[in-house]
Amino acid sequence: MKDTVRVRFAPSPTGSLHIGGARTALFNLLFARNNGGTFVLRIEDTDTERSTEESAMQIVRSLRWLGLDWDEGPEKGGEFGPYFQSHRLELYKKEVQRLLAEGKAYYCYCTPEELAERREAALKAGKAPRYDGCCRNLTDEQKKKFEAEGRKPTIRIKVPQEGQTIVDDLIRGRVVFENSVLDDFIIFKSNGIPTYNFACVVDDNAMKITHIIRAEEHLSNTPKQIQAYNALGYEIPQFAHVPMILAPDRSKLSKRHGATSVEEFRDQGYLAEAIVNYLTLLGWSPEGNEEIFGMEKAIKEFSLERVNKTAAVYDVKKLTWINGHYLRELDIDYITKQVIPFMLKKGIISEEEAEKRYEYIKQIAAISRDRSKTLDELADSIAFFFKDVTEYEEKGVKKHFAGEKAAELLIKGAEALEKLDEFTHDSTEKAFRALAENMGIKAAELIHPTRLAISGRTVGPGLFEIIVLLGKEETVRRMRKAAGWIRK
Ligand code: GLU
Ligand code: ZN
Repeated sequence: MKDTVRVRFAPSPTGSLHIGGARTALFNLLFARNNGGTFVLRIEDTDTERSTEESAMQIVRSLRWLGLDWDEGPEKGGEFGPYFQSHRLELYKKEVQRLLAEGKAYYCYCTPEELAERREAALKAGKAPRYDGCCRNLTDEQKKKFEAEGRKPTIRIKVPQEGQTIVDDLIRGRVVFENSVLDDFIIFKSNGIPTYNFACVVDDNAMKITHIIRAEEHLSNTPKQIQAYNALGYEIPQFAHVPMILAPDRSKLSKRHGATSVEEFRDQGYLAEAIVNYLTLLGWSPEGNEEIFGMEKAIKEFSLERVNKTAAVYDVKKLTWINGHYLRELDIDYITKQVIPFMLKKGIISEEEAEKRYEYIKQIAAISRDRSKTLDELADSIAFFFKDVTEYEEKGVKKHFAGEKAAELLIKGAEALEKLDEFTHDSTEKAFRALAENMGIKAAELIHPTRLAISGRTVGPGLFEIIVLLGKEETVRRMRKAAGWIRK
């Protein structure tokens, strides 16, 4: 029943959106769109100590920036809201009261110290440390006594100790958990806040979620959640646990492997399109072996069957390669608008210039973008159009600025350009070729020092494209200045 698919991305706002989270969100979105379903965003902010509003906003911002738009959730609303768990406490309370009344949950008065002690003892005796169920059958009198002692109870759910809990995972296949390893876990903390395993189940049911697509690390929570579904009398949704993302050395991906959050990648000059393309292929593979895979195409082809069963290995080189592709191929106005913030940040242009000289910046971006892999690199590579050259690339100096001959070539070149009435790609090129012929040298011998003189670099767009955009006066001035620099 395709039209009933409802999936959700349910981040805890305890930091920025990392690529693992972004991939989970993306797979949910692709699955929803492929099935004509609904993609819900729910913020799981019941952990009051670790959750922040700033983080929730940052996650929302990163998802929007990536273009992973949700159908229901924060800033959007929807029929099953509110979409922040902190605004849904009444519902959790109602459901936990129902479980208490039905005898499926109970108050536990054990203090953290007592629990720790018993855990220690179990470990010493070589047993698995599980809650021992000691508050399962307290009499009213015992409860009153504990209350009188001022103990604040938690609420635990009764979990069967025999049998198995089976997860038929859409990616992992059948995973069997022995109930003997489960215990009566806490569903409400003593501060009146539900735990993740409870709130998540109540919400997935209330929001009519049909498929739970999430990170593999939650597979171990799934038997607990299934027990909660059973106790609450809810229908159990389908589960799909997506394998981990590992660092290139196959260790857990962490800060020491470089950028891991979406905002960091953005700030380094990666395009949203490239990140989405890269994440699409991180753990999912299409039928062919195409590497360039836009969101639209991914929506058409996505299926959970083709999600890999083994961990994906993160490879920044591939991401960078894909980024270079989108930098070259996307609409030039879009790229120009993306590169301008990098130019502003680096002080290459002012806000005012960015506005006034937009067309000029666009022309420069158009001739330069083929050689850059990130927006940051692109901004650096075009800085010389806006700022005088103060340094020349060292290896270029050795090769192209060697002695008086180079200085002389630059002076002659400058004179040839200065004479031109019409200053176009063709006219400047012709002038250079004619001069080279006159001097009995190859045009390249004139072109290389000129490029170094006017851009400070040995590589870049075609020289005559640069010259025309830089303009006659500035080109000539820089060539003369370089000649002086060589002679000094
Ligand atoms: N809030 C959980 C997390 O961020 C969500 C887990 C789930 O999708 O059920 O890890
Ligand atoms: Zn207890």
